[in-house]
Amino acid sequence: MLKKNEIYKTEITGMTSDGNGVCKINSIAVFVPYTAIGDILEIRIVKVLKNYAFGIIENIIKPSESRISPDCSVSFKCGGCVFRHINYKAELEFKQQKVYDAVTRIGGIDGSLVKEIIPADNILSYRNKAQLPISYDKNGNITLGFFAQRSHKVISTDFCFLHSNDFNSIIDAFINFANKYNLTPYDESSHSGLLRHLYMRHAMGTDQIMVCIIINGKSIPHADILCKNLLDANSKIKTIVINENLDKTNVILGKKCHTLYGNGYITDILCGCLFRISPLSFYQVNRSQAEKLYSIACDEADLKPHETLLDLYCGTGTIGLTMAHSVKKLYGVEIIPQAIEDAKINASINQIDNVEFFCADAYEATKKFLANAVRPDCIIIDPPRKGCQPELIGLISKNLIPSRIVYVSCDPATLARDLKIFEKSNYKVKEIIPVDLFPRTSHVETVCLMSRVEGK
Ligand code: SAH
Repeated sequence: MLKKNEIYKTEITGMTSDGNGVCKINSIAVFVPYTAIGDILEIRIVKVLKNYAFGIIENIIKPSESRISPDCSVSFKCGGCVFRHINYKAELEFKQQKVYDAVTRIGGIDGSLVKEIIPADNILSYRNKAQLPISYDKNGNITLGFFAQRSHKVISTDFCFLHSNDFNSIIDAFINFANKYNLTPYDESSHSGLLRHLYMRHAMGTDQIMVCIIINGKSIPHADILCKNLLDANSKIKTIVINENLDKTNVILGKKCHTLYGNGYITDILCGCLFRISPLSFYQVNRSQAEKLYSIACDEADLKPHETLLDLYCGTGTIGLTMAHSVKKLYGVEIIPQAIEDAKINASINQIDNVEFFCADAYEATKKFLANAVRPDCIIIDPPRKGCQPELIGLISKNLIPSRIVYVSCDPATLARDLKIFEKSNYKVKEIIPVDLFPRTSHVETVCLMSRVEGK
């Protein structure tokens, strides 16, 4: 039995799906964060559970060949990157294996269908979105940064290797302004203070920036000076918005926005289409990799001009709209009303008129399509992490039966679970392609093509 605070010499031999290293001590699996396969370490046991334990590095005796020295001052503290200490090649191997393990072990699918992961061209400064919590530093000055892992303690930093470089000057200008006018940061425990988050988005295809200040209040003092200071700091800013969040909640955004400067949104170009991005709308955080993801999904869909395409869980319509020109008719379904409003605007600014968007639950909408004799030839499914509703899979695979299904997933485990159900009724997985949308984190996106089994 392992005990807390014991120290062991060990070698890291595997990784968990969330990026922790794994070693075996007395036949018990011990998870050690920020390690690499091949590391020979002394570790300290910090937590012992029934069948496994957690450890931390006490001493690196012999580093793995994939180790690099972490370049970030808040590495291992902030909850963002888990892989700043290993090279990108090792990270890609981990992601490839994560998808392979999930689909073979959970899905029972032939592993040779998993193609080589599509790497990112850029592993730095790729994030087009930042939401930074604001607090006091130890000297009582306003600061901002990131929440520590599994905590709401703000780790102060004005720089992030993953964010757009353009955010740095905006952060500086904002902090100077907040300190100069003695504004108060929001305090979760007492539900007091004004400034909750500084939120920025950078449409990298058009080079437009949105700044949104999330406040526990209705207005910000000296808003005109704030706007001037921000615009002086970065001339790419096209709009500045206040988001009111008066609730005692850890949800970042409130429902109400008002615009201080510009028209409240920015516009990006993705796969040749224009997309309007407002503070509340969903947009992929890594634009250049999203373009690769969508074009792979489009190739897999292999659409024909006479066909009907259904885009389920469509968000603001991005995937379907980039394919609309290849089909006769596109339907999109999404549960969030604001996203559907954006999707309709996105269709109109791109002069796409062969599309109908519905604000509904994916299952309920699909039932209606069936009742109204809408028969898509191809369905794109891009659900949240929890995957598809089982009743929706049943309806698609037994009643709607399109010839192809393209499943875009941000969680290999739920993807694998769902593929197994599809394979039991009428569908065969043809190809699984991992795409790295989130370098330096343990997340991986996957595109999977399924075809209807012939004769059905
Ligand atoms: N395809 C989009 C968004 C994918 S994110 C893109 O690539 O940009 C998943 C989306 O599913 C979210 O927008 C979420 O609001 C939506 N969603 C979640 N549950 C849903 C449900 N039951 N029915 C329909 N949409 C749902």
